[in-house]
Amino acid sequence: MRGRFAPTPSGLMHIGNARTALLAWLQARSAGGRFIMRIEDIDKPRSRPGYAEQALADLRWLGLDWDEGPDIGGPFAPYAQSKREALYEEALQKLQEGGWLYPCFCSRAELAAIASAPHGLGSEGPAYPGRCRDLTEAERAARAATKTPSLRFRVGDRAVRFVDRAAGPQAFAPGAGGDFVVKRADGIISYQLAVVVDDAAMGVTDVLRGADLLDSTPRQLLLYEALQLPAPRFAHVPLLAGPDGKRLAKRHGGIALASLRDSGTAPERITGWLAFVSGLIDRPEPVRPMELVGRFDLRSLPKDPVIVTDELLKRLYGGMA
Ligand code: GLU
Repeated sequence: MRGRFAPTPSGLMHIGNARTALLAWLQARSAGGRFIMRIEDIDKPRSRPGYAEQALADLRWLGLDWDEGPDIGGPFAPYAQSKREALYEEALQKLQEGGWLYPCFCSRAELAAIASAPHGLGSEGPAYPGRCRDLTEAERAARAATKTPSLRFRVGDRAVRFVDRAAGPQAFAPGAGGDFVVKRADGIISYQLAVVVDDAAMGVTDVLRGADLLDSTPRQLLLYEALQLPAPRFAHVPLLAGPDGKRLAKRHGGIALASLRDSGTAPERITGWLAFVSGLIDRPEPVRPMELVGRFDLRSLPKDPVIVTDELLKRLYGGMA
């Protein structure tokens, strides 16, 4: 069993990310598996200098460790996506040869306009309408003379089904979400492609991540299939949410690990609280990650987003009794 945590270094590690990291770590450690740390800094404009190192330092402070990662190396180095572009290009080549890709010349503004047109995409949401899917070679050449295209993957017309180990059986309608971008016009490889190439290359057998990525999974499964790579098992865990029901973010309070540390909160208090809100222990008492290994059980995780109320946050800062 090989698990992983794959943060994007676009901000400080907060209790929401830390909770996903802890659960992925527990899944690997409770199975006697290996745990991999990978920095997903493929989207350079979103990744800010210093945050990757800070994320690793924060997670170590919390009591997590990893067997392979950007700071310690390992058999599948490098462990930062910005250094793995050759692998993504190789995968793109393979997809091109298999006829899975086509160039798309649509701008974001055009796609937004189509999506909001009265007879546009209706209830399906802003899925890509396939405008450039069937251009002729001559049309492509003409457009390419003035515009650099993105590359899209043809999702085809099959439904995608899989059993998620936390969220249960999943079924996505044929073409759900539409043909998606694997390489942007600015040359940046998409998350969908990079994550598949990396999880496969690194031999990841189990992906545990936030439920916000559940919708990405059918796309990734199509990529695994097209690239003829074995797909991992998936477990998408309900997110921590703010009182407004939205994914927990900085605006919901002082919840960056760094600020908790600076305010004198002990790491085991945080891991105990995270275990408590994840249903692994009955009271938010201080617990070190190692002590939780025997208690990890995917089935005991909450099924719905966990609303982090002020009351609940107070138990993190002070009221542990
Ligand atoms: N890099 C993604 C994020 O930070 C996670 C990707 C994944 O776990 O597949 O949201």
